[in-house]
Amino acid sequence: MRKYIVAGNWKMHKNNTETTALLDEIIAKKQNTTTEIIVAPTFVNLKTAVDTVKGQNITVAAQNMHQAEGGAFTGEIAANMLTDIGVNTVILGHSERRAYFHETDGLLANKVDTALKHNMSVIFCFGEELKDREKNNHFNIVEYQLRDALFHLNKNDWNNIVLAYEPVWAIGTGETATPEQAQEIHQFVRELIAKVYGNTVADSVSILYGGSVKPDNAKEIFSKPDVDGGLIGGAALKADDFLAIVNSF
Ligand code: PGA
Repeated sequence: MRKYIVAGNWKMHKNNTETTALLDEIIAKKQNTTTEIIVAPTFVNLKTAVDTVKGQNITVAAQNMHQAEGGAFTGEIAANMLTDIGVNTVILGHSERRAYFHETDGLLANKVDTALKHNMSVIFCFGEELKDREKNNHFNIVEYQLRDALFHLNKNDWNNIVLAYEPVWAIGTGETATPEQAQEIHQFVRELIAKVYGNTVADSVSILYGGSVKPDNAKEIFSKPDVDGGLIGGAALKADDFLAIVNSF
């Protein structure tokens, strides 16, 4: 059985006070669920988040990290700084990191390796831009992204990988991929992984959809057979919206 996951990517939103307030509200309103709930506040609020969600079945993730073990990299964060404060999950390859901070699949391969070396779980984001889809090149783009960043991994490594398909044109735009468009890519990705790693890996990896998921479209998207949850941006910033999405399976 694959894990169902709803992860909130808070991006550069919420200061420390607001982080505690949002988490307190999520904790107070959350119903019992088998869906894994993940929240990803900004770096400076991770420790607060870890302390706040203790014992609540909520996982705290970082939104990024550096590939090096440490050293002269001003402004960066190393894996062991995260694990030391109880953060064992990291989002890598978000399209905003790719677009604004020039992260390439080659670099992301190194980041993934570092995370796995530290026994962290990775939520690996990928997805085509609008121009790729307009040229009908989206399947190729997705395949290259996964191949270049992840296909050097061995089978066991995949126990710690969650995939998040996020078509760039649907992120923060209000424009959602249709449930059919999401399913089509998710199925393609699962078949690709089956070709490279076999069915056991392909059938056990969770593939999340991200891009303008809201309470009113989550149920339909999550009902698709190869969609195992969502990576949520804007709608993760309000407890009621986020929990409505969590409860959409
Ligand atoms: P959005 O962001 O839900 O606001 O579109 C999704 C994401 O960037 O992960």
